[in-house]
Amino acid sequence: MNDPSTSAHRDFVRQIVEDDLTSGKWGGRVHTRFPPEPNGYLHIGHAKSICLNFGIAKEYGGKCNLRFDDTNPEKEDTEYVDSIMEDVRWLGFDWEDRLFYASDYFEQIYQWAEQLIRDNKAYVCSLPLEEIRAGRGSASEPGTDSPYRSRSVDENLDLFRRMRAGEFPEGAHVLRAKIGMAEKHMLMRDPIMYRIRHAEHHRTGTQWCIYPTYDYTHGQSDSIEAITHSICTLEFENHRPLYDWYCTALGIHHPQQIEFNRLNLTYTMMSKRRLLELVQGKFVSGWDDPRMPTLCGLRRRGYTPEAIRAFCAYVGVTKNNAVTDMVVLENHIREDLNKRAERRMAVLNPIKVVITNYPEDQTEALDAINNPEDAAAGSRKVPFSRELYLEREDFMEEPPKKFFRLSPGKEVRLRWAYFVTCTDVVKDASGNITEIRCTYDPATKGGDAPDGRKVKATLHWVSAKHAVKADVRMYDHMFVKEDPDDVADPALDWKSNFNPNSLHVQQNAMLEPSLAKGKPGDRFQFERMGYFCVDADTTPDRLVFNRTVTLKDQWTKEQMHSFDKRMMDKRIKTEDEG
Ligand code: ATP
Ligand code: MG
Repeated sequence: MNDPSTSAHRDFVRQIVEDDLTSGKWGGRVHTRFPPEPNGYLHIGHAKSICLNFGIAKEYGGKCNLRFDDTNPEKEDTEYVDSIMEDVRWLGFDWEDRLFYASDYFEQIYQWAEQLIRDNKAYVCSLPLEEIRAGRGSASEPGTDSPYRSRSVDENLDLFRRMRAGEFPEGAHVLRAKIGMAEKHMLMRDPIMYRIRHAEHHRTGTQWCIYPTYDYTHGQSDSIEAITHSICTLEFENHRPLYDWYCTALGIHHPQQIEFNRLNLTYTMMSKRRLLELVQGKFVSGWDDPRMPTLCGLRRRGYTPEAIRAFCAYVGVTKNNAVTDMVVLENHIREDLNKRAERRMAVLNPIKVVITNYPEDQTEALDAINNPEDAAAGSRKVPFSRELYLEREDFMEEPPKKFFRLSPGKEVRLRWAYFVTCTDVVKDASGNITEIRCTYDPATKGGDAPDGRKVKATLHWVSAKHAVKADVRMYDHMFVKEDPDDVADPALDWKSNFNPNSLHVQQNAMLEPSLAKGKPGDRFQFERMGYFCVDADTTPDRLVFNRTVTLKDQWTKEQMHSFDKRMMDKRIKTEDEG
């Protein structure tokens, strides 16, 4: 899709890289980086950035670094560092020996700050934060100079060194760049470079009590690593003048910052801060809850790295922020799993069926094809016996006209097995159906009638005495609204849109026995029911599955329903025909 050799799919970032290679701007080098802040787990939005940065390096014979942007001691943690490395590797990328931390550059970055002070391009400001903020002015009005702006170089150096030495409480002073309070860009109006934080850092411990801001760290870290193309998201576009100013003022290697559009998806959200709120508020079971848009959540849900990479290539990069429909992501995992997930039979909501003319003590091992899309996947044996489970919703005692599945007097095919005809239903005292009775036609073994007669539905089934039980977790969107921020009541926030029905556990689903050996992470298509994977909560006495995605997309069905009822009917019919 993003094959750089086909110009039709060459995005504007790759175009810049290619132009630079042609002009020799960086001496033929391509060097990118992926710079996460270790303050949460990576989400699918980060995957887009990873695929872009590592992808470009790979395609153009360059390099891509993994760099932790760890300048914020309070929010960062080694738990996040570890998870980020695991997720980048899982996605299929390799930073080789280029694992870096912005905190490793703290000394160099500090020395550069002293250089700016000596060049009269930075000063220590002792205004309280609120006054600094108020003094910034507005988009239409210039800011006002801080009374500390004219401090001498010597006084600034002395104060800055004492800030580093820990002589002052938090908030007493900051270091600011001396750019100009009348600058058009608000971010350029003497921005803060350093603040005092008496906080322990997950890597540097208590070595520092002053920490550089993101803006004063990022470009310098890129510079130290000799990055050529510093690719970031659009919200940093108005930080670019500052990125450029620091590199120019310091006279250091000056990478080119290029901004692209963030990934946004419907019915979920991409902010680590908010995802942390969902974890801490116990809305979800953790960062890897399969409803989360995190890479560990998607992995647990059954997503493959291939599907995520294909999705990222498909959405591409542009200069326009937009929201991508969740269906687009789901279609990529469907497409991938359709090719590689073996088919199995699993009855999620079982009802017992007795084949009255089938011998009581007989069991047959029937041949079932593992994956019609992949001949190499071979076949397996599935046991058939007198008592089976069928999906409760595949039976209706009084069916409407278009219902082609099982009902009294109707004949259907049991997948890989026989034609059966419903003869009777058994009910309990309150009228609930407890058992369906059928007869089978021994001449239809394998699922074909030698006399050529047709049936309109093929149903999946599981032999009752061979079935293995499982809990199957079915997921729906994490939020009830496409845009979780869409809240009418001002007293409520986005969390009020959390979908209380986003998890439904189907207990005592009945699976064909070959699934008993499933190991966490194994993926299957349950025929007619969707794609499922074995969950990590599986124990020797309890199988737990997650539904990764339904077979067909509900949204499309609903749209079709409202647009064209006849199409819909045709579709149900083809589904029934299996
Ligand atoms: P969040 O708001 O989720 O915390 P962030 O931008 O603060 O995201 P970082 O750890 O700073 O997270 O991001 C690392 C890299 O991933 C950055 O280059 C950032 O631009 C990119 N990135 C983050 N979110 C997205 C997204 N939704 N789409 C594309 N790239 C993203
Ligand atoms: Mg951030």
